Amino acid sequence: MTPTIGVLAIQGDVREHILSLEHSGAKAVPVKTPDALSGIHGLVIPGGESTTMSILAVINNLLEPLRALRSEIPMYGSCAGLIMLADEILDGRSDQQTIGGLDITARRNAFGRQVDSFEIDLPIPVLGSDPFHAVFIRAPLVERIGPNVEVLAHIPAGLYGDDQDRVVAVQQGNLLATSFHPEIVDDYRFHKHFVEMVKSA
Ligand code: GLN
Repeated sequence: MTPTIGVLAIQGDVREHILSLEHSGAKAVPVKTPDALSGIHGLVIPGGESTTMSILAVINNLLEPLRALRSEIPMYGSCAGLIMLADEILDGRSDQQTIGGLDITARRNAFGRQVDSFEIDLPIPVLGSDPFHAVFIRAPLVERIGPNVEVLAHIPAGLYGDDQDRVVAVQQGNLLATSFHPEIVDDYRFHKHFVEMVKSA
């Protein structure tokens, strides 16, 4: 069966996720209203700007329906989407809301400003032996993980000029999140991993 996966389409790189999902064996649909949440088997929260996304989710009456849905269907958040799925955020706006569900603390803009964006090849064992080309754009960092959170990828100590590992991809049950943007590279392994999560949910 081809699963139908929604992409939250209130802000951010919606089109890129739709194309990546369609390359990965799913039918992808944009989600702009609470009504559009019915009938989807999974949901992607795109990269973009989490404070804006938070405000628009409230204005569009999506926040509570999304919170209710996070225990029902798999969700995947990239970059700003990771922030939206975090239970706790640092360096956000004081009134910033999240969907939550992931027992993590995410620090916004943890790698510096827009000019400090960077790309690296990361080992991600769950995707196979070839490294994944990860693009970080004003990315958040996972600073704390709860006991049920699995780390899928980290930047090894030393690589980015500091002395500790930096967690940049996590999974907790049906919730998946990355600090980087798989939707803007031609490697669909992350989206395929999510499509498989949706199929087996
Ligand atoms: N810095 C952005 C935020 O806080 C995230 C950046 C991104 O999604 N590329 O929402």
